[in-house]
Amino acid sequence: MSNTQDGDQQHTQKAFGWAARDTSGILSPFHFTRRVNGDDDITMKILYCGICHTDLHITRNDFGFDVYPVVPGHEIVGVVTQVGCNVQKFKIGDKVGVGCLVASCGSCENCKEDLETYCPKVEFSYTIFNDGTGKKNYGGYSDFYVVNEHFVLRFPENLPLDAAAPLLCAGGTVYSPMKYYGLDKSGKHLGVVGLGGLGHVAVKFAKAFGMKVTVISTSPSKKKEAIERLGADSFLFSKDSDEMKAAVSTMDGIIDTVSAPHPMAPLIDLLKPHGKLVVVGVAEKTMEVPIFPLLMGRKLVGGSTVGGIKETQEMIDFAGKHNIVADIELISMDYVNTAMDRLARGDVRYRFVIDVANTLNV
Ligand code: NAP
Ligand code: ZN
Repeated sequence: MSNTQDGDQQHTQKAFGWAARDTSGILSPFHFTRRVNGDDDITMKILYCGICHTDLHITRNDFGFDVYPVVPGHEIVGVVTQVGCNVQKFKIGDKVGVGCLVASCGSCENCKEDLETYCPKVEFSYTIFNDGTGKKNYGGYSDFYVVNEHFVLRFPENLPLDAAAPLLCAGGTVYSPMKYYGLDKSGKHLGVVGLGGLGHVAVKFAKAFGMKVTVISTSPSKKKEAIERLGADSFLFSKDSDEMKAAVSTMDGIIDTVSAPHPMAPLIDLLKPHGKLVVVGVAEKTMEVPIFPLLMGRKLVGGSTVGGIKETQEMIDFAGKHNIVADIELISMDYVNTAMDRLARGDVRYRFVIDVANTLNV
């Protein structure tokens, strides 16, 4: 399953995308190369690519990983243009997706359990850690992608590809912990913290599971649409301490999608005894977790990331059955820097998706 992905010099296929070159995060046109299509690979022409907040973190070097130049994008959908001779699952013309994962060892304990995400040799669709090997992957803000067929996903016919693209990361990142931590049970009460790209999809999945859902947000302006459009049962303005106090010990679980440091204690207080707080948002600074309330309520704080390939396909199929897609704003490639600024300000309802095929001009 492991395959060297893209590099600066060693490949012969010319590719084109938009890259950030420094901590300004400003993206601009970028020529690079990708590997030729191998026997187990498919090549896809990219149609759409979602903008995840992780793209913003990495392009602006929020975590200090310093992986420039970086072509972001891990919510990639497109059409198959080439298949290797060993490829079994896909043919030219298929509409497909590639999410966060593009390679893993295939033989470790995690890979054997379809948890490629947690393989020590996992490769992401674009390089986010500088691992010192010099190996570099470039993501989906680009014209095409070459990938081992194992890491390619299919979409049900009824899901529009542009709005389905965010399922590949946002969808998988909230669905996986809901399954793993048992936060998918009808009638249970789930809190969703942060109503952004991940959060709004979490609300949709939780409602499809038959759960009671409360959005916990710093933006009172989102209350009406959280309830009327996304189907949440209730809404808590997290800066209103009276509202928060009234909801203490009411939730079975919480999915925390916040992209910046924020207090954990008030969220732990919202949990019933045995409740689980699962953090999927990535803050650039360490956050404090008070231990006493965990002990007294036998509560758990956990983390999670996107599911493995098998689970990601299961999530997409589930989304197809329940007509779950993201609420998107479709943008052109040359709007991407404005979109990033707006994402940083929380000004997006609820995911930007780039219309790559129609607007990426070499
Ligand atoms: P997003 O669309 O920007 O949503 C984040 C939401 O967090 C915002 O809409 C806002 O919601 C809330 N928020 C932002 N700043 C806040 C602050 N200072 N205090 C409290 N709340 C704040 O981002 P996203 O794409 O959903 O991604 C969310 C986070 O998950 C990012 O850190 C991203 O890197 C991470 N992520 C992790 C994984 C993983 O594998 N675990 C995968 C994908 C993304 P309200 O307005 O409702 O408060
Ligand atoms: Zn993402």
